[in-house]
Amino acid sequence: MMRIVRRLLNLSGLNDKAMKRRSCSCEEPPFRFEDYKTVEVGEDSHGAEISVLTCNLCGHMWLKYLIDWPHQSRSGRWWRVHIPPDEKHSISTTTAREFIERSLEGFAGGSFFNSHGHRITTPITVA
Ligand SMILES: [Zn+2]
Repeated sequence: MMRIVRRLLNLSGLNDKAMKRRSCSCEEPPFRFEDYKTVEVGEDSHGAEISVLTCNLCGHMWLKYLIDWPHQSRSGRWWRVHIPPDEKHSISTTTAREFIERSLEGFAGGSFFNSHGHRITTPITVA
């Protein structure tokens, strides 16, 4: 419903400047899992869950790196960074962590950070 309203506003030229500044919901935390097609890549040697999310709205792909140790309370934390289309095939359980850490920007969140999602920039450290 909101999407339709926004489109109408945009078509009518109202609030045009604000519309252009606003990016897709996949770049505006908090994120909603139902906005994505999720492909599980697997678990890496650190016990993190790696998945690739594709935004249903704009098609952007995101690498998500999730650490959530059940035996440790408030350990839940995740990072996610944009995957350029030409790099999507290089994502694996062995490359994911490094891919996150060499990204220039992205998002992080989780109970460990007490955050539903916040923007981060380089240097990104997964810990
Ligand atoms: Zn998007």
